[in-house]
Amino acid sequence: MKAFIYTRARDSAQATNAAADGKTTKFIAGGTNLLDLMKLQVEMPEQLVDINRIGLDKIEETPEGGLKIGAMVRNAALATDLRVRTRYEALSRALLSGASAQLRNKATTGGNLLQRTRCYYFYDTTKPCNKRSPGSGCAALGGFNRIHAILGASEHCIATHPSDMAVAMRLLDATVETVKADGSTRTIPIATLHKLPGDTPDQETVLARDELITSVTLPPPPPGRQIYRKVRDRASYAFALVSVAAIIDQSGRSRMAFGGLAPKPWRVEAADQQTDPDAIADHVLQGAAGYGANDFKIPLARRVIRAVLRDIKG
Ligand code: SF4
Repeated sequence: MKAFIYTRARDSAQATNAAADGKTTKFIAGGTNLLDLMKLQVEMPEQLVDINRIGLDKIEETPEGGLKIGAMVRNAALATDLRVRTRYEALSRALLSGASAQLRNKATTGGNLLQRTRCYYFYDTTKPCNKRSPGSGCAALGGFNRIHAILGASEHCIATHPSDMAVAMRLLDATVETVKADGSTRTIPIATLHKLPGDTPDQETVLARDELITSVTLPPPPPGRQIYRKVRDRASYAFALVSVAAIIDQSGRSRMAFGGLAPKPWRVEAADQQTDPDAIADHVLQGAAGYGANDFKIPLARRVIRAVLRDIKG
């Protein structure tokens, strides 16, 4: 690990001001991904700003009937909150399907959204990777790409976004609130928080370097039953090969968001108009392309859509 300056912030203003001072800076909350990356020298910030004491750890009702989740709310606390369990079941289930109990006790809402891909080559500094080292190439394109994207990828990067939580939040049309060092705030729809790789896969979100996520707001849940189905190589402590967060209402209409398929939580609104599982899959998988070892994800995603609709109706 390379030496770095450690700063502990008392509030969000101190944290964002530290991040604006010209050094390459990372905010650290749970550290469940960042510390691994620093030990491997994939991330080498000059400064770490510890935000564990800035508050932002409450879950509050909104006047509209939704929930405002502080960025520092731990994944375990969010998953087990009674309001989340009863009104946002897909989110609770998605959280509980991620990582391990110990990691969920540390990982935060904001950090979960900003976790990095688990592409093997991103973590291996002996291999070319445009995300870690822009312009160096992509080892996954001609390498072992079983866990990689079939949608939204580019010739420069085919990594997937690893978060389960973000998939459920995408289903629920969450918004992400932020603040910058100049005090300005903004609300970002989760659909636009993460960028597709294009020719700049190192730029993963629309956030500025001094911009801190302060909360995530869930609108009132759409009517219908919610489900989160995660298909992975083992029953726990594994990232999704394909995951689906879904809501289906009494008339049979469904809405879905997907993990494991793309560089960001994937949702195709046009599929909501369909009720036949294969028609939904046709819309969702439009333009899907495998890279060899991940070709199986295309038929797997189709089967998972069928299974989810069968289970949720049953
Ligand atoms: Fe790097 Fe992306 Fe290629 Fe993985 S898929 S090696 S993260 S550029």
